[in-house]
Amino acid sequence: MMHFSDRLAVDGRVLRRTRTEVLQVNVGKLCNLVCLHCHVDAGPKRNEIMRRETIDRILDWLARTGIQTVDLTGGAPEMIPDFRYFIEQIKALQPSRHVIDRCNLTILLQPGYEDLAEFLARHKIEVIASMPCYTPENVNAQRGHGVFEGSIKALELLNALGYGVEVDLPLHLVYNPVGAFLPGPQAELEVDYKSELKKHFGIVFNKLYTITNLPIARFAGYLRHNNKLDEYMELLVNAFNPATIDGLMCRNTISVGWRGEVYDCDFNQQLDMQWENGRRLFLWDIDPDKIDNREIMTGDHCFGCTAGAGSSCGGAIV
Ligand code: SF4
Ligand code: SF4
Repeated sequence: MMHFSDRLAVDGRVLRRTRTEVLQVNVGKLCNLVCLHCHVDAGPKRNEIMRRETIDRILDWLARTGIQTVDLTGGAPEMIPDFRYFIEQIKALQPSRHVIDRCNLTILLQPGYEDLAEFLARHKIEVIASMPCYTPENVNAQRGHGVFEGSIKALELLNALGYGVEVDLPLHLVYNPVGAFLPGPQAELEVDYKSELKKHFGIVFNKLYTITNLPIARFAGYLRHNNKLDEYMELLVNAFNPATIDGLMCRNTISVGWRGEVYDCDFNQQLDMQWENGRRLFLWDIDPDKIDNREIMTGDHCFGCTAGAGSSCGGAIV
């Protein structure tokens, strides 16, 4: 199989960073769900979570930059004890920053989190929520029994607070394939999602993002177990689309792990591809004005981001 770096070289390309616009912070691997496709291997028994001391160091660093967007992910980011502290402190920065919460929806209904949705709305947090299908069968197969029903209840709650309705409360959903195939066309799926969720549950949302499953962590295990890993890699390699390169999220995003370590993206984070410069680098080692044009660390999993219409944290690229 051709390696990703060799494929880039065919077109005379090297993947390099542009100006950093997004700080994506993965606050840990703790989650109330254990989804089949999870690239973080997250679950209720994981204890790797970001501590307040690390949050404070990130806040100090962020305050000295012009980065406008902080994208919180996990696990279920809401489950770390300092989730609300982190958001309140980001919002108190001058100038304030835009915050995204990557939410699995079901956490909003768990005991102890009953006022979380209201907290998110009060702070005008953008919610990007996983919803791999609009039918219970597919969602429950991938994410666990009852997750579809819980997700619908959480979406109803978010809509009631104005999410997906008011302009300053955006609600986007994320689709990822329930199996070893590429997502269908994003615009068409969005039309289907909107019509089905509205018709059956009265739910509204803003955009649908289609995201390709990358062959790493739990999804790689699933592929291996079903003897489909080689076939899936071949599918990704054959679908390589050079037009996706300029829109890859690793070009304008810094990814930070629960100990403050730095990566080019959340996938590289799970593969332990930490930035190095003679030693492993943490966010507070980085001068944001000196990393434009830095070469991005790639691997064959990157074929997942460049296949077909491409895939990033904001969905299809082209
Ligand atoms: S995919 Fe998301 S919701 Fe599912 S286990 Fe992983 S982090 Fe949790
Ligand atoms: S996995 Fe995707 S986002 Fe990460 S470095 Fe590779 S191409 Fe970029």
